[in-house]
Amino acid sequence: MFWIASVSGQKEQSDTLSERQIEIRKIPDSHLKWLLQQLFRQKAKAIYIIIATTISIGLNMVRPILTGKLFSLLWAMYSNRIDFHIMPDYFNLFNLMRTNPLIWKYSLLILGLGLASFLVDISVGILNEYVANRTERDIRQEFYESVQSKSMAFHDTAKVGELMSQATFDVRIINATISPGLRILTQAIVSAIVTFVILFAYDWRIAVSIFILVPVYIWALRNYTKKMHPLTEKVQKQFGICNAVLQENVSGIRVVRAFTGEKYETKKFAKEVEILKDDIIERGRRRALYFPPMILSASIAIAIGLSIWFIYNGTMTPEAAITINGVLVQLYEPTFMLSWILFLTNMGLAGAKRILGTMKEEEIIIEKPNAVSIADVKGKIDYQNVSFSYHNLRMNNRSKDDNNNQSDETPKKKIRDTLSNITFKIEPGEIVAILGPTGCGKSTLTKLLARMYNPDKGKILVDDLDIQDLTLDSLRKNIGVIEQDIFLFSTTLRDNIAYGTDRDVSDEEIIEIAKAAQAHEFIMSFDEGYDTLVGERGVSLSGGQKQRIAIARAFLANPKILILDDSSSAIDAETEEKIQKAMDNLLKNRTVFIITHRLSTIKRANKIIVMRKGQIVSQGTHDSLLSSSDDYRRIFGRHVELPPIKKQEVVEGVGGK
Ligand code: ATP
Repeated sequence: MFWIASVSGQKEQSDTLSERQIEIRKIPDSHLKWLLQQLFRQKAKAIYIIIATTISIGLNMVRPILTGKLFSLLWAMYSNRIDFHIMPDYFNLFNLMRTNPLIWKYSLLILGLGLASFLVDISVGILNEYVANRTERDIRQEFYESVQSKSMAFHDTAKVGELMSQATFDVRIINATISPGLRILTQAIVSAIVTFVILFAYDWRIAVSIFILVPVYIWALRNYTKKMHPLTEKVQKQFGICNAVLQENVSGIRVVRAFTGEKYETKKFAKEVEILKDDIIERGRRRALYFPPMILSASIAIAIGLSIWFIYNGTMTPEAAITINGVLVQLYEPTFMLSWILFLTNMGLAGAKRILGTMKEEEIIIEKPNAVSIADVKGKIDYQNVSFSYHNLRMNNRSKDDNNNQSDETPKKKIRDTLSNITFKIEPGEIVAILGPTGCGKSTLTKLLARMYNPDKGKILVDDLDIQDLTLDSLRKNIGVIEQDIFLFSTTLRDNIAYGTDRDVSDEEIIEIAKAAQAHEFIMSFDEGYDTLVGERGVSLSGGQKQRIAIARAFLANPKILILDDSSSAIDAETEEKIQKAMDNLLKNRTVFIITHRLSTIKRANKIIVMRKGQIVSQGTHDSLLSSSDDYRRIFGRHVELPPIKKQEVVEGVGGK
């Protein structure tokens, strides 16, 4: 999915790439190349593994040669000593060594080679583990950074469960591909080469007759990989789907309970798990059909048959026969292991492809290379003819394949822009209320200010500077947002309030801020006070409490521009009144957007923007709009202010009269 701008607003930016953009483009398109690049970041260690494995194979391959020589020696002794059987003490070790020192030399050499290859294997094993785990850590970190930096358009459509499975399972399996994959793959390739060198050195006739089977062997391996690859990809994708279903269910457990959706959810999950099971069985079936060991058995049978024949007609020595067959038998292990390693490699490559797919998705929120950092923001805001559509984003978000599959005959429905031709100005320190029917684009309008999305047309200026020319960090640091759906991290209330501040914040400051946000009292009602841990998404707090934590967080961040999206709707009237008082101070010298239908808040605004269907239909002050805007009067008319309840009536009510 490569989104580089076909949207007109984003097209202009493609020639001025941000650092991140350049980084993304440096990532190779081929996942195999990318994986090798990751691996060879630890070049010295990877090369050591390959060389040391080669040495270890070399040492192992000398063993059959020595065994051949040893047996030829024994054979000679057997042939020359007729009294071999009747002299049991002949095999007394001392006598044996004394009579023929070559025997113990060969024996000791075989032992020594075994020991040397064991030691080399230990170092390779440890290093391989190190390389694999460092690569896993690097990829996981890079993937995390990449996901962090993706635009909102990416996160709007990304499935959390799938991302989780990429960051956990797929990255993990890449580790397995490297350790023991790298070693065994090297072992298999080097063993095959060394075997043929030895075969040709000892008997070219046997070497040639076995060499004929090599294309069949390669074909079998290729065929195995070709069939395994799509199956492996399918399994990993399905695993991601299962994760996504599970994640969605756990996140939405309250809705599931409230609507007694357990059975439906269980059925939905069971269906996906069933598909996963079938896919894994199919992959296992294909694995079981791996038949290169059969080809190796055939090679050994050919070698044994020819050896007997050649020895019989005197064109081959028993030593050569023992060496050749010994070398071939040594190939059994890498051949069997190769099936497993190819299986792991397939999984690793499928994982790498999925991870790379996510990482290669191009950013559409680009920070220009020469972007300026604004430090002392005054808070002047100027929207100039801004238009934006989520539909355009989605169209760009679609994969190439999806686009290719789309028929030209698809009826083209005219889709209204989410925002069209939005133009207004706000002076520093002004409070602006935005109102209009649900879905008319109020939140989207404010999201464009912090560059969560880019406008398709028009531009937005902060202090007369186009926000596209500013660094994202400096822009966003100056904008505080309290959204409708408040997210709290699974940490203490103190850390949640201090979230996003670069400096050390004292406890006194946190308490002062919490008091201002009317949060101190309820925080202190918890046993752990400010150290109270908040569950995932703040489940242990009420909506109103979460809002006050979010308000405190925004107060502490002290941004010059504040966006409050219906932020006080979940706070009871009494608390709201207190917050309003605190806000009166805190909102001073700040430009504030308040998305609300609350009359008391609207009345405090310097300017009111009334929206309908993505457009501004009127703007002005409360009084001017009352007399000029039908839309405003319609919204305003809904607010019926009830007369205050008399104290006595309440007491009587409680008393049950
Ligand atoms: P409300 O008062 O209900 O919060 P709003 O006026 O703030 O609504 P927005 O949230 O800006 O409206 O949404 C404007 C339109 O854009 C709606 O039709 C909504 O469905 C759509 N929309 C909002 N967010 C997205 C998104 N991430 N992807 C696609 N469409 C979206």
